[in-house]
Amino acid sequence: MAHILQVGAGSGGAVVLDLLAREPSVNRVSLIEFDVYESHNVYRHLFPASSIGRLKAELAAEWVRGFRSDLVVKPVIADITDPSRQTEFAQIAAKCDIGVCAVDNEQAKHAFDSLMRVAGKPWTLGEVLSGGIGGWVHRFVPGGPCYGCVASHLQREVKEQQDTPPPDYSNPGGAIPETTVSANKASISVIASLHASATLEMLKDPSPSPLPQGEMGLNPAPPSFPGKGDGGLGSSETSLLFSLAKVPGVFDEAFRSYRFRIPRSPSCLICGSAAVPQGDLDVALGEALDRLGT
Ligand SMILES: [Zn+2]
Repeated sequence: MAHILQVGAGSGGAVVLDLLAREPSVNRVSLIEFDVYESHNVYRHLFPASSIGRLKAELAAEWVRGFRSDLVVKPVIADITDPSRQTEFAQIAAKCDIGVCAVDNEQAKHAFDSLMRVAGKPWTLGEVLSGGIGGWVHRFVPGGPCYGCVASHLQREVKEQQDTPPPDYSNPGGAIPETTVSANKASISVIASLHASATLEMLKDPSPSPLPQGEMGLNPAPPSFPGKGDGGLGSSETSLLFSLAKVPGVFDEAFRSYRFRIPRSPSCLICGSAAVPQGDLDVALGEALDRLGT
């Protein structure tokens, strides 16, 4: 039986949660989300207009209990980046089997990454690209690359190729609102479904041999972005990119998958050999975010 710790119950996160909660092997969910359901959420969400003004975490918990009365769902009304709640989050993370990240801002992703690495638990991340042209599913294992490794690697790859729209797990209020084009519900659901599938796959095999530090030179180079690839996440891939539209200069065609094997970076300020002690992690995180230009 599995305990899932999920952060984010937006239009993508709610779909991921809905799918995971239908698995009999999942018996407990802790859901961190502080957001309130608003009128602009209605047409892409599971919940009716009559729910406007209520907390998304509580709406999601009620939704899941509607078909899984045996499932223990605990809404945690909090911001994952809130320093005053980290002890409580760490206690939940220590008890969970896997983490699920469905938030659309960088600070929250880094905060969840830190939480899961300290707890030594695997986790997954889904990201819908702006406009819903495709999306990412990443998975992280203890000892493997951290979110900072993956994000900085992909940013370098993308810069060398083409500018792609920024990730947006769906919603106005994404990290870069002025460049964020809302994705439609179909695109959000496809990526959320892949995210749920990858999470269930990891629950079956939680530690698919992380790439050891120092071996990245021996690994085959990841395909050039967007590159060629096929299939789902294999045992050693960290990231899956799935196209949902043909976009000149970005995706050659719709409905193609690209797999990336992203190594842990020895120079990563968060998890590499240059990493600072945990007590100074906030400083390192700030520096890493500055480097990423977020
Ligand atoms: Zn790292």
